[in-house]
Amino acid sequence: MRILISACLLGTACRYDGKSKAHPLAEALATRHQLVPVCPEQLGGLPTPRTPSERRGERVITAEGADVTAQYRRGAEEALRLCRLFGCEAAVLKERSPSCGDGQIYDGTFTGALTAGQGVTAQLLEENGVAVYGESRIDELLK
Ligand code: SF4
Repeated sequence: MRILISACLLGTACRYDGKSKAHPLAEALATRHQLVPVCPEQLGGLPTPRTPSERRGERVITAEGADVTAQYRRGAEEALRLCRLFGCEAAVLKERSPSCGDGQIYDGTFTGALTAGQGVTAQLLEENGVAVYGESRIDELLK
């Protein structure tokens, strides 16, 4: 099947700190499925590296206090557009990210504390019927 995937999990250095977060099972996933890499924060027009951001309710705020909600929404819409264009049935997304996180995200205090919630892109994809998997569930797609 075709699967949308957070580009940082494939080793792309697109994270806020200019680094990647390559997952050891991502290459195996690529041998079984067609992967479509996206970085919603870059697709939304944010630079790399960039100031870290966290969700506060419906808003997304940087550690310096700037409101980047519009960029996060634009990136989520672009990720959904590409998901539809390529016919992806599922998405494997980086956990805890304010864009890609699903289930738990940082709580908006920039203290490392987690709270129940979703990143902006994970939320939009799920609202549109895409099955979202955090990277800790990649093995479920390898069976
Ligand atoms: Fe990775 Fe998603 Fe953050 Fe881009 S927005 S660096 S794909 S977690």
